[in-house]
Amino acid sequence: MNITRYAWCFSHGVFHTFPEGDTPWCTATWIAFTATTRIDALAAKHAAYGDAQFLHDLPADKQIEVIGIAEARTGQL
Ligand SMILES: [Zn+2]
Repeated sequence: MNITRYAWCFSHGVFHTFPEGDTPWCTATWIAFTATTRIDALAAKHAAYGDAQFLHDLPADKQIEVIGIAEARTGQL
């Protein structure tokens, strides 16, 4: 069974999908959501970050949160 990770990328302004187990090809600022469908992932993204498409669409505190999550992930690689 293929498991896909959905990740909203605030650098590219789109959803990325990464096959589970693969190293994500995008190393920019993205947040992964646990969801089984793209629609679920979009709903989760909307609940957490609203309509923001790019990093600068977020309020300052959310920008810091998102950058922190992305940096923590990069540090693990
Ligand atoms: Zn990206």
